[in-house]
Amino acid sequence: MGPDLESADARCSATPPRMNSEGDASSLNHYRRLAGQWEEEQHPHERLLSGLELVALRCWVGSQPEGTPVLDPLILDWLEAGEANQPEDWFHSQLRERGCCNHCGNRYKLENLAICTCCSITLCPFCVGKTDRQSSRYRRCECGGDWVG
Ligand SMILES: [Zn+2]
Ligand SMILES: [Zn+2]
Repeated sequence: MGPDLESADARCSATPPRMNSEGDASSLNHYRRLAGQWEEEQHPHERLLSGLELVALRCWVGSQPEGTPVLDPLILDWLEAGEANQPEDWFHSQLRERGCCNHCGNRYKLENLAICTCCSITLCPFCVGKTDRQSSRYRRCECGGDWVG
């Protein structure tokens, strides 16, 4: 292994968006389904999110206008339980980590990247802008999820 390894280290390779097998990847339905599984199985820790997925959930919930009726109380309970399952200050330490843009491969601190609510790929602000122009109305990932963060 030679120079290839170095360039692979500096830039990251793209991950294809994870398409939703349920056929509906809107953030709300995605989260409702996952929170529903957690509820049905009587709150196992394995059904709680962590890492990037939990950051995306927290950002998505935070980005909903106050009093939004679509915010299912179950989703909020599930988020709270997920956060309680993390070490203190997990959110800020996670944001300080470096991630890479799935489109251009450049590295950024996670706080500067947008995360897809459904497939958890990340894009830099510049590439999110490009994605934006392709879609007609909403900022959406190819998988149907929303960009948050
Ligand atoms: Zn980029
Ligand atoms: Zn996605």
